[in-house]
Amino acid sequence: MTHQDDQQGKSPGSLVDRFDRTLNYLRISVTDKCNLRCTYCFSPGPHPKLQHSDILRYEEILRIVKVGAALGITKIRITGGEPLVRKGISDFLKRLTAIPGLSDVSLTTNGMLLDQHLDRIRNAGIKRLNISLDSLKRERFRKITGEDGFDQVWHAISKARDMGFSPIKINVVAIPGVNEDELIDFARLTFSYPFHIRFIEYMPIGSPTFKTSRTLLTQEIKRKIGSLGLLTPLEQDGKDGPARRFQIQGALGEVGFISPVSQHFCQTCNRIRLTADGRLRLCLLSDQTLDIGGILRSGGSDEDLIHLFQKAALLKHEKHCLQSGDTYSVKDFMSSIGG
Ligand code: SAM
Repeated sequence: MTHQDDQQGKSPGSLVDRFDRTLNYLRISVTDKCNLRCTYCFSPGPHPKLQHSDILRYEEILRIVKVGAALGITKIRITGGEPLVRKGISDFLKRLTAIPGLSDVSLTTNGMLLDQHLDRIRNAGIKRLNISLDSLKRERFRKITGEDGFDQVWHAISKARDMGFSPIKINVVAIPGVNEDELIDFARLTFSYPFHIRFIEYMPIGSPTFKTSRTLLTQEIKRKIGSLGLLTPLEQDGKDGPARRFQIQGALGEVGFISPVSQHFCQTCNRIRLTADGRLRLCLLSDQTLDIGGILRSGGSDEDLIHLFQKAALLKHEKHCLQSGDTYSVKDFMSSIGG
């Protein structure tokens, strides 16, 4: 029996790919719209916006998640675009967290609308947050994002901490020539706050107007912040994903490094993505997708959806293109894939 026969003959319960990786983590982009225009992420100019009718309705996403949960998906991350710009997001989150089998539902946001959503997000059962923040300087924040929003994002982060969200992870993309002089300031925050600061290597995909000839690799980032004190490795706790975690001596919080470029984590990749227009995407760095929304809208049964999940698992590549040396050409933008 081939692996494929084996997969297709299996009753729902697990989603295993050709490389024996169990796929149990679904990242869902609920919208391609964003209220920020981060230079390194967003594509300016004529931008193929999805039509309202192309976007999966919440009802449809919930159905896909229920099928995914029957196949062993336990972890969900809601992303975008910016998820909090979509109307009705809190009610959706409440219905999502109630789906049996899910043990971890979290949200990634740029924080611009977070303050006004915090109560409802908490009531929906979300306990931990990832907030993207690439500068602690108000004017630089404006330059990167196009909005004078640093104060409001920082206020929301502080309020979330006071309300007991934990952990609060602050995602910092280390962008050469843009915020490299601030990485140490971000790390320093962990002495005053219990935040998890996660440094992410910039991936050379995304906005065609943002060009850089180099990447700030984890090793260099570590070297910069190592001047604050000894970095003690922390145990991975299963919810960390690809982040390698450390604590600086004497800190309340921790720092983490996500290294898609210098130390790919493909061999342990457990992810599959659902785009806002209903495509299952198998790798952040590959435009190969399967149209699960189309199957659902043409009257597909749960069996059909299960079959598509299984087909997607079997198409997943061993490693992403930055590693395999293949010429990569990711046409979708981060702002639409969701990171
Ligand atoms: N709007 C939400 C937010 O800001 O968190 C979710 C979507 S955003 C596309 C998800 C994450 O992708 C953000 O942390 C962003 O900084 C990151 N990102 C965007 N372009 C990137 C790139 N080229 N390399 C690495 N990370 C990137």
